[in-house]
Formats: sequence, structure tokens, C-alpha cells
Amino acid sequence: MALSKLDRLYKSVVMDHYETPRYKGHLGQPSIRVELYNPSCGDVLALEIAITDGKISGVAFEGEGCAISMASASMMCQQINGLTLKKASSLQSQFSRMLTVEDEKEAQALANEDLGDAALLIGIRKFPARVKCASLAWQALYNALDKVELEKI
Ligand code: ZN
Repeated sequence: MALSKLDRLYKSVVMDHYETPRYKGHLGQPSIRVELYNPSCGDVLALEIAITDGKISGVAFEGEGCAISMASASMMCQQINGLTLKKASSLQSQFSRMLTVEDEKEAQALANEDLGDAALLIGIRKFPARVKCASLAWQALYNALDKVELEKI
């Protein structure tokens, strides 16, 4: 069976982010650092965020894992850099709902340009076992924003 146009686009964008990750490395002075492990696949991820005046002024990740987990981290960093914490939090909810909501139409509507390349990961819905891979970076973001709230950074 031939791959659909969307499948091909999805594969090439995922591989591009995996092979040439954006924002990979470390920040000089992160405000917050979160490390997460996905036991179902073995992916490890460390996310660093710098916050200035309620905005994400820097972001970087380091990790090892499958193409989906690493590509997703790269896509997310690209999308959240420069955003207010509020907007980053709303994107986090949007991404998570896109992958987990039962209604396919709602999922399609959530896969919009706000998510940038990350919207292509809607394709992961067909592979429930990989949802944790795609969500690892976004879960790290969720934990980071939670810490910011608690510690009033
Ligand atoms: Zn994985």
C-alpha cells in the first residue's frame, strides 16, 4: 500500500528533526531543569528552560531515545521558545489532547498551526504504544511549568 502524502510528510519531518535536532544542548543558566524517563521505550530526556519576565527566553534539551521522542522534543522546543508561560501551557494541553482525545474530528482540529511541526505527530494516534514517546517532551514541559508555579520562579 502506498503511503499517503501526509504519511510521507510526517516521516520526512520527523526524520529531519531527529537527524538535525533544534535546541539540543544546554543553557548557560536554566531557570528550571526537568528529567524524565519513558520506561515503555527507554527514552530519556532532560529539558532546560530559562524564564525572563514570564516568558520562555531560552530552551534546550538533551536525551537519548527513539526517533519519535527526540524529534518531538526538537519540535516542541522550536514551538515554545519565546512564548509566555501561559501560552506554552495552553500548547501543552493542546498537544496532549490532540493525542488522547477520543473524537477524531476534535483531534484533527487541534492539529493546527499553533503546534507547528508538532501537529504532524497526530499520526501517532494510530500507534497508541508510541504516544508516550511523542508526549515525553511535553510531559517534561508540563512538569517544568508546574515547578515554576510552585516555586514562583
Ligand atoms: Zn520512544
